[in-house]
Amino acid sequence: DTGDRLAKVIARSGLCSRRDAEAWITAGRVVVNGKKVITPAFNVTDRDTILVDGAPLAARQGTRVWLYHKPAGLVVTEKDPEGRPTIFEALAEHGLPRVVTVGRLDINTEGLLLLTNDGGLKRVLELPATGWLRRYRVRAHGSITQARLDTLKDGIEVEGVRYGPIEATLEREQGSNVWLVVALREGKNREVKNVLGALGLEVNRLIRVSYGPFQLNDIPVGGIETVRAKVLRDQLG
Ligand code: URA
Repeated sequence: DTGDRLAKVIARSGLCSRRDAEAWITAGRVVVNGKKVITPAFNVTDRDTILVDGAPLAARQGTRVWLYHKPAGLVVTEKDPEGRPTIFEALAEHGLPRVVTVGRLDINTEGLLLLTNDGGLKRVLELPATGWLRRYRVRAHGSITQARLDTLKDGIEVEGVRYGPIEATLEREQGSNVWLVVALREGKNREVKNVLGALGLEVNRLIRVSYGPFQLNDIPVGGIETVRAKVLRDQLG
């Protein structure tokens, strides 16, 4: 995260306009990581703690989570060094406050991506210890038996990386491809592709359909859905 101007971040949280934020900063009402900052152009990232009138930015507006149906072809990053289109450019039309993603999806992966305005919640939801199930529908080139897929229940090591127990179900064959449902509890880089690749399957479509208690359901491609505060409390405690 390369960060953003403090005034912009405050405005994007939905608290006030950019101009108000600049005025509040110069008036000394904003504290970053325990120090008063009076420069609106001061650079902050989601790791910084921002207080406005003594109250943390995220807490003032309340923790929120959105479900995003990520289309294929968008990069999950603030700014792509190669200039490819990012999800944040696509999300601009939805007028969200400043959000961070919970984990990432590869550029060609589709489906459920959680967004939140709370950097602390992001980290909790990503923790390996949380062990939330991530479920994917997968189309892969090649063929395989259910018995072979069942061996993934013991976990597997691929190129020096150990992957924990994986549930994989063969749904159907389609020409030279198979469709599978794969569920795992980690969140490692390229995990589905690497694990299936080790079994001789080349993933050519990957759609995340759930993340912990949150489901993609019928959110249209490119669409977002708000998680209501009550649901969030019930799900996350
Ligand atoms: N596994 C992958 O290989 N890619 C993703 O984007 C998500 C899980």
